[in-house]
Amino acid sequence: MNTKLWTVDKQDPIKYSYPQIKEASDLLIEGEVVAFPTETVYGLGANALSDQAVLKIFEAKGRPSDNPLIVHISKKEQLTVLVDNLNETARKLMDAFWPGPLTLVLPKKEGVSQYVTAGLDTIAVRMPDHPVAQALMEISGLPLAAPSANLSGKPSPTTAMHVEEDLIHKISGIVDGGATGVGLESTVVDCTADVPLILRPGGVTKEQLEEVVGDVEVDPALIHQEEQHKPKSPGMKYTHYAPVAPVYLIDGSKEFLQRTISVSLSEGKKVGLLATEETISAMNTTGITAIACGTKTDLSTVATQLYDALRAFNATDVDIIYSEVYPEQGVGVAIMNRLEKAAGHRIIKE
Ligand code: AMP
Ligand code: MG
Repeated sequence: MNTKLWTVDKQDPIKYSYPQIKEASDLLIEGEVVAFPTETVYGLGANALSDQAVLKIFEAKGRPSDNPLIVHISKKEQLTVLVDNLNETARKLMDAFWPGPLTLVLPKKEGVSQYVTAGLDTIAVRMPDHPVAQALMEISGLPLAAPSANLSGKPSPTTAMHVEEDLIHKISGIVDGGATGVGLESTVVDCTADVPLILRPGGVTKEQLEEVVGDVEVDPALIHQEEQHKPKSPGMKYTHYAPVAPVYLIDGSKEFLQRTISVSLSEGKKVGLLATEETISAMNTTGITAIACGTKTDLSTVATQLYDALRAFNATDVDIIYSEVYPEQGVGVAIMNRLEKAAGHRIIKE
């Protein structure tokens, strides 16, 4: 398959990149699959109202069919064909966080494709805060089902180049609107229960949600050592975000990290280190591949750079990757959720 590539102006795509947006929208209307930037990560979009278009997403990504998709909308009116009934909690969250990195799980309207929702009676919906995503929905007039535009199991893409690495010749087009901002996927909140329940941590934190709707719970399956619980969000059970070499999280001091690296080096291993700028500059990195990922003084920079850093190890010959851990506050919760999955829950404690 020929994959078209369009470069667009991300500030005002309709004004400055109309021909590209129109061409991409036309492909979406024809039922094709097109990748585009959102403020979280690149999405792989298709007409959410067409079974055939939606099935192409699963095929291109190699996504398990029991993992439902998030439907992206550009206007609240589009909810009328997707969602059955909006409760007070959902309304408050939409007013506070849309457009933005918050996905709401809501009762689905009859007639919504069973493939989108993987047979569930709920649907996940979000309004992205990115002019390119909005322009595609506005010009095509379609709600777009769009998971992250990576092969299943790989780190989510934060640049058009990441999408190309995974999906060239497998999809009809890629709209390049530059690097994404948040860098981690949206927070997924189930609004169908009495107390809203976080199914996936993300760009919007628990604290921010609680400011708007009071108590918010977290799916117990997301909390450490609680793997015996089955996550309510089907996608959370899959290994994910993994580079080729195995990742180990090191929960301890810099000295412990340095000693762990030395042991692997003495065993003849090629070692990769994923850490913040300040950790890397405070360590002896002779003979290892150190890739920096943001600064601890602002965890949002770690979120933004995490997937690019994880992918960068695939261009190296490391046998093993050690990563430091992050405080589980604010966006640190989402960072640790992704890192633990990338590491297959392998954590070495001091
Ligand atoms: P991605 O598309 O890669 O961002 O992943 C979407 C996430 O949303 C996955 O973890 C899905 O399991 C989750 N999701 C989508 N729809 C639902 C739903 N109806 N109920 C619960 N989780 C959902
Ligand atoms: Mg994904």
